Amino acid sequence: MLQLKNVHKSFGKNEILKGVDLSIDKGDVVVIIGPSGSGKTTFLRCINFLEKADQGQASFGELTVDLHSASKRQIHQIRQKVAFVFQNYNLFNNKTALENVTEGLIIGRKIPKGKADEIGKQALDKVGLSDKYQSYPGELSGGQQQRVGIARAVALNPDIILFDEPTSALDPELVGEVLTVMKDIANEGTTMLVVTHEMSFAQNVANRVIFMNDGVVVEEGSPHDIFVQPKEERTKKFLRRIL
Ligand code: ATP
Repeated sequence: MLQLKNVHKSFGKNEILKGVDLSIDKGDVVVIIGPSGSGKTTFLRCINFLEKADQGQASFGELTVDLHSASKRQIHQIRQKVAFVFQNYNLFNNKTALENVTEGLIIGRKIPKGKADEIGKQALDKVGLSDKYQSYPGELSGGQQQRVGIARAVALNPDIILFDEPTSALDPELVGEVLTVMKDIANEGTTMLVVTHEMSFAQNVANRVIFMNDGVVVEEGSPHDIFVQPKEERTKKFLRRIL
């Protein structure tokens, strides 16, 4: 469904992505793990053009675009298919939870407000926020704000949702509620690519785990392959440190 080929990205002299390939099938829950600074977030951001890659291609079925030189129209086409959940939620503080969710539907997708409200409420119901439609981000906990961020992605009904360390800004006691919502969405068959330091999520929810280190994919496989029988020394070393 989505293929990324040979993605390269440098910031100044720092080569962060050194030719990353990844193929994702419909319904896959792919989790990228790896040490801090290995390029996980940068890779995710290159997929929907939050960062411009120096080189690389993305193919969505019939649509293939160059990640470095895509036209505005192609970027728009990709963004119709890809939703993004940010580490820091990226909500509008002057809009209610419902308005945050419907903004992209009304402005980006040109869906009439009545219909957008209906879709938005369904999405907020799905993340357990039926009683918070009219709350502003400042009135919500971090976990609730991130659930609004997830509802906003779900409401767009994208082909894939990219999650960039969705729980790393949260107090530990709020992590669980967000992971539960992500697990529910995964169980519904949503295609997801998740960068996270939550190894329990990678072990229990992913069907494929990618270990990235120093700008390359070192190893990938099922959670069992990676966590129980890793082949590469670098993977073993990383897991010894964190598990
Ligand atoms: P973490 O798990 O700590 O979030 P990561 O694997 O997601 O790490 P990235 O956030 O992709 O890693 O960062 C990889 C490297 O790229 C880091 O050294 C970071 O400082 C650098 N980097 C990221 N964004 C920029 C930027 N906009 N300008 C310059 N350097 C950047």
